[in-house]
Amino acid sequence: MYKIETTKIMKEIMSNYFLGMKDARKKYAWCTSVGPAELLRSFGFEVHFPENHGALLGATRSSGDLIPESASLGYNNDICSYLTSDIGSYLKKQTPLQEHYGLEGPPKPDIIVYNTNQCREVQDWFTYFAREFNCPIVGITPPRHVDEVTDVHINDVSNQFKAMIPACEAASGQKFDIDRFRETLQLSKEATDLWKKVLWTATASPSPISFFDATIHMGPIVVLRGTQVAKDYYTTLLKELESNVRNKVGFLEKERCRIYWDGMPIWGKLRPMSELFLQNHAAVVASTYCNSWVFDAFDVEHPFESSAKAYTEIFINRSEEAKEKILARLVEDFRIDGMIFHDAKTCANNSNSRFGMPQRITEKLGIPTLVVEGDLCDLRFYSEGQTTTKIESFIEQIENSKVYS
Ligand code: SF4
Repeated sequence: MYKIETTKIMKEIMSNYFLGMKDARKKYAWCTSVGPAELLRSFGFEVHFPENHGALLGATRSSGDLIPESASLGYNNDICSYLTSDIGSYLKKQTPLQEHYGLEGPPKPDIIVYNTNQCREVQDWFTYFAREFNCPIVGITPPRHVDEVTDVHINDVSNQFKAMIPACEAASGQKFDIDRFRETLQLSKEATDLWKKVLWTATASPSPISFFDATIHMGPIVVLRGTQVAKDYYTTLLKELESNVRNKVGFLEKERCRIYWDGMPIWGKLRPMSELFLQNHAAVVASTYCNSWVFDAFDVEHPFESSAKAYTEIFINRSEEAKEKILARLVEDFRIDGMIFHDAKTCANNSNSRFGMPQRITEKLGIPTLVVEGDLCDLRFYSEGQTTTKIESFIEQIENSKVYS
């Protein structure tokens, strides 16, 4: 059975990351997953990502017990289930971090930082914790749903980055050091370039990495970008995958079709989903979700401006038209035969099926599309039986309409 050996190292790295949070002498920043982690690390903060905790709650299927807790504070059950799971976990004092790492919960924050480039929900979510911990909170509110990112956008966001510095200095007790920021950005750039190469190994057939594998291997680029550890990890992973490409070894010997997955993973169903596609010899090889941590724009010569550009031009923050152009490119690069859109019921921001995009894609690119209903964490919105039937018929349909082979 196909196995990515480097997974062992990833587990160790993630374990060390969480165990490191036991150290009460360190300063902790909480940050959104596509927030300014490099700037925070340049002040010496360890960085905790509540969305990563949300994904953990989803993957361990803890969310079902926790979501109702946050409803008691008025957080509606149909808003972001990362938010409702995470606040529920805090209220119930229950987290898988206890069992796996002996932590009571996420570390207490010295500063909380958000970027609404992905959604407004993160601002509400983080503000709740800022009140709870009586902790400073700062944020970036970039222009949303942009077509092309312009110099006006970059100036605006770059100034917002700079405006966070006094709060970071006060919380960390360290003066801002542009060289430290450049060093962290350089490490992040190298890691993100490697991560892109890792994802792009899936352009090969047979592909050495699936979308489901990538959702696991993206751990370090989310929580440890800006560190040597992340860079070294992706160097090793890439080496293994490139060797598999050379030897024509992949997770499927023969790919019946190649599929793009749009939107969030269904964290609590990752394994059965992955198995469903494998049993049907369908290779899910691309997603814009895992690509969210590819930041082509980082440039150490212009650390603020390039960070502003990188974090504003992410897929989720683009207009429908810009998104469709990006998808057209991926379909070509990865030789995609069909697209599955996950309509995550508690995340409209990362569900692209609601304004006619699947229909337009089929019309423009000539490939079939399918919408599956589900959610990132809240499994009440997901029907396994119905989804399996839909996906199996979709794979049949793709076979009859292949563009690329
Ligand atoms: S993008 Fe969606 S899942 Fe992520 S934090 Fe925002 S609302 Fe939640």
